[in-house]
Amino acid sequence: MAKTLEQDATKLVHKWQSVASYGVPDELSIALHVGVVDTGNNNNGTGIGSRRTIQATFTTLFLGPAAQLLQVMEKKFPELGMKQEDCKEMRWVESTSKNCRISRWNTVDILLNRWSSLPKTTFKAKSDFVTRPIPKVGLEGIWKRIVYQSRSRARRRSAIIPELAARHCIDSSSPSKALAQQHNFLQCVASHSNQSMPQLYVPKSPSFLSVLQSSIYNLRFTSPATPKPLFIITPNHESQIRAVVVCSKKHGLKITVRSGGHDFEGLSYRANVPFVLIDLVNFRTIDVNIKDNSAWVQAGATLGEVYYRIAEKSPVHGFPAGACPTVGVGGHISGGGFGLMVRKYGMAADHVLDARIINVKGEILDRKTMGEDLFWAIRGGGVTSFGVLLAWKIRLVPVPLLILVSTMAKTLEQDATKLVHKWQSSCKLWRSDELSIALHIGVVDTSNNNNGTGIRSRRTIQATFTTLFLGPLRNFYK
Ligand SMILES: Cc1cc2nc3c(=O)[nH]c(=O)nc-3n(C[C@H](O)[C@H](O)[C@H](O)COP(=O)(O)OP(=O)(O)OC[C@H]3O[C@@H](n4cnc5c(N)ncnc54)[C@H](O)[C@@H]3O)c2cc1C
Repeated sequence: MAKTLEQDATKLVHKWQSVASYGVPDELSIALHVGVVDTGNNNNGTGIGSRRTIQATFTTLFLGPAAQLLQVMEKKFPELGMKQEDCKEMRWVESTSKNCRISRWNTVDILLNRWSSLPKTTFKAKSDFVTRPIPKVGLEGIWKRIVYQSRSRARRRSAIIPELAARHCIDSSSPSKALAQQHNFLQCVASHSNQSMPQLYVPKSPSFLSVLQSSIYNLRFTSPATPKPLFIITPNHESQIRAVVVCSKKHGLKITVRSGGHDFEGLSYRANVPFVLIDLVNFRTIDVNIKDNSAWVQAGATLGEVYYRIAEKSPVHGFPAGACPTVGVGGHISGGGFGLMVRKYGMAADHVLDARIINVKGEILDRKTMGEDLFWAIRGGGVTSFGVLLAWKIRLVPVPLLILVSTMAKTLEQDATKLVHKWQSSCKLWRSDELSIALHIGVVDTSNNNNGTGIRSRRTIQATFTTLFLGPLRNFYK
């Protein structure tokens, strides 16, 4: 159903944003496309007399009969005014050929026609949206939003922290079932571990919560409401991980793998189905080989540990990865992480020479045995979809003996908006890949007299420019 501005499109789009939150059945999806149409009839291609307006097109798919859909729409989205003649029952495969503006095709054969005469109207790329600097007025709107968010976040956090100590037990509705489940799983792991049994924590273990929360960086997920694993396993040998993979599969348990625990969504330590958590905190060996410019790094090592061990062996070798030393190499490299040397050396994943993973069958694979396709996928595509990463072999990069670093913070009152605006386009002016300037934006309290009460606090935006230059001071000033 298409509606123009004159047909109340704004009201409909506004309502559409919240329709899904009002408990509509999972069988219903309403997609929205917004475009420009010409509603004048007499322009003959000249553009004269044309009347351009916005048109919102709502494409509804309902996995069920029309009568039921009309009932739902009448209750949840009456403003759209859907009637019997606005919807058509069809087979699922037919519906797929109706999408993507090819509704005029009456046959599903179009699905096989790769070179169809579809109107080729796409002319935007994602990156188009960031090539032009955000205007100052846009930046000012963003600042307001950040300050507003920081206030509500402070309130939320104080509500969460007192709950940290609360215990959340598994399957309390059926303790005997949970015990049997634990027992069978443990027996399986014991029989598959060649070495010794891995260190394992169940929710009743005294240190279960402290181990679980040890590397949770998103405090939202320390709340009792966050689903907890049935087991936390902290292996120190590959065969123990293999045993957990094999037994989780056998007992229908999901595995989450945690290296540094910095996942913004907490995907390394929470799930909505029964799961075990493999925490690689003991998998942190780093073996640096300066002679061939490489290092083998186990997945649970942090970036800080990697940098430290490289520097121990050589002051003119480095590795181009993230700025935060507590991030884990398992998630960081496999997810496309990068740091301040990105302009010179690209991403961390660009410097992976080899890897060791355990796949779902419990097989240990390296670059040669996994093949180049899988090796390509785990360098940026997230290794979790393919197995448990055990270790990376990384290439070290040359760095000067002394480099230049600067951190400068400016508040709004110190012209931060102007600086951020200029910063967006400044890299076009640099000729040197040796220079990177990273920007972090945050909220600071510039008043001195609030005594921690928040009363009379003066919150403002602060932009922090961190500059890294791989060269000497005299070149930097040029
Ligand atoms: C404070 C902070 C600073 C950051 N700084 C930077 C930065 O400077 N540059 C940058 O690019 N990014 C940065 N990030 C983002 C960070 O790189 C990603 O969140 C990254 O995925 C974290 O990796 P991790 O191992 O610490 O996280 P985890 O939470 O352990 O894992 C992240 C994801 O990878 C999976 N995973 C982890 N290890 C394995 C494994 N061994 N096998 C299979 N799957 C695994 C997890 O299941 C999860 O899905 C930062 C994040 C935070 C919180």
